[in-house]
Amino acid sequence: MAIIAETDITQGQVRSIMTDDPFENMLAQMDRAKEYADVDDGVFERLKHPERTLKVTLPVELDSGEVKVFEGYRCQFDSARGPFKGGVRYHPSVTQREVEALAGWMTWKTALVDLPYGGAKGGVICEPKDLTQNDLESLTRRYTEGIRRMIGPETDVPAPDMNTNSQTMAWMMDTYSMYEGHSVPQVVTGKPLEIGGTPGRVEATGRGVSIVTERLFEYLDRDLSGASVAIQGFGNVGSNAAKLLDEAGARIVATSDVTGAAYDPEGLDVSALDAHVTAGGLIDEYVAGDRRDVPIADGDGDRGDGWWDAPEMISNEELLTLDVDVLIPAAVEGVITADNVRELRASAIVEAANGPTTVAADEVLTERDVQVVPDILANAGGVIVSYLEWVQNAQEFSWPLETVNAELERRIGRAFDQTIEQYDAKDLPDLRTAAYTLALERTASAHEYRGLFP
Ligand code: GLU
Repeated sequence: MAIIAETDITQGQVRSIMTDDPFENMLAQMDRAKEYADVDDGVFERLKHPERTLKVTLPVELDSGEVKVFEGYRCQFDSARGPFKGGVRYHPSVTQREVEALAGWMTWKTALVDLPYGGAKGGVICEPKDLTQNDLESLTRRYTEGIRRMIGPETDVPAPDMNTNSQTMAWMMDTYSMYEGHSVPQVVTGKPLEIGGTPGRVEATGRGVSIVTERLFEYLDRDLSGASVAIQGFGNVGSNAAKLLDEAGARIVATSDVTGAAYDPEGLDVSALDAHVTAGGLIDEYVAGDRRDVPIADGDGDRGDGWWDAPEMISNEELLTLDVDVLIPAAVEGVITADNVRELRASAIVEAANGPTTVAADEVLTERDVQVVPDILANAGGVIVSYLEWVQNAQEFSWPLETVNAELERRIGRAFDQTIEQYDAKDLPDLRTAAYTLALERTASAHEYRGLFP
């Protein structure tokens, strides 16, 4: 485990940060903000510990006939501001510490964008690529049964996250409802439209990323039109952010998946790439010209032919160090570290992933004046629209897409403005510290009003 001795993390204090432990990273982010936040020491101590974490073992009979025992978690980090809220991820690298860190980040995220929620997260250790659709259904139902005593519309409301989607939420909602004896759509968000989902939820996180990137450019008094953008990860968040930023006039010069990154300094054909990936294609196949769902080039050499404008293939690590106006990490946590931060050349970073930057790297970015829009603000679009879905379910009423998108824009825009106000008014070192001071103060204030019981 890489241990890096850091100096000057909190004004001269020396700390050891385990850079590959997301929970340590989250605690260090809290510590960095604490010295500027008006938070009682006792309450702050409480905020460093999750309320509870349930570990479940899940025996599942796979399509292959094998019975496999999976391990899953649900962490409920803090509920002072309202019911626990947060996604469920399926990934081989899930750990209890990671789930707890992600639950903490959900707590600060819901506080920062002022939703009446606390924070939670779930995860199951599995490789979804090795599971059939039936296997995924059985695993999801078993996991839901495992955690069903701790979730509910008023207590804890799961949602999609990495490798889970609206189908996963439909199975969770159905399993929970079967035990309750009636449909309970409000127990999860990110559902299909047909069973109480909201328009706009699938693209909400990417839309939020695009909105805050536009707001950042306005704040920096720079023109987004023609600005170069590199996006690590072309999943649900990365691809929707790419499409919307492309529409806003930015140039998406690189994006990646597990096979590596497609890079074209003149800008990728985002809609052709999206069509290829939506049809199940990988980025290395796209770069090699083996494209799905993309019309074969007519040979006149125009942009849009794809074939003649073939991008080159670079690695995920190279993508991070491209000389671009904005870097958007939209994959996993811990990708910008002490090891690579000095090679980064982007002038701004918008964190679409949760926890992509380690505290050690953050220090260097702050020193170098690279503006970082922190994850708890940049990727909050998903949970904002989850909240709008939950509200519609409670009202048994549905809103049109325009209403949802307008409310998303209003809420994330307000959080952006408040973060900037805090940053300027308190002369804080960076936007993450500004966002954390707001989130910690709001959560701590809820704790103080509520007091201790029993
Ligand atoms: N998984 C998303 C996130 O990390 C959304 C959570 C939710 O909608 O509850 O913010």
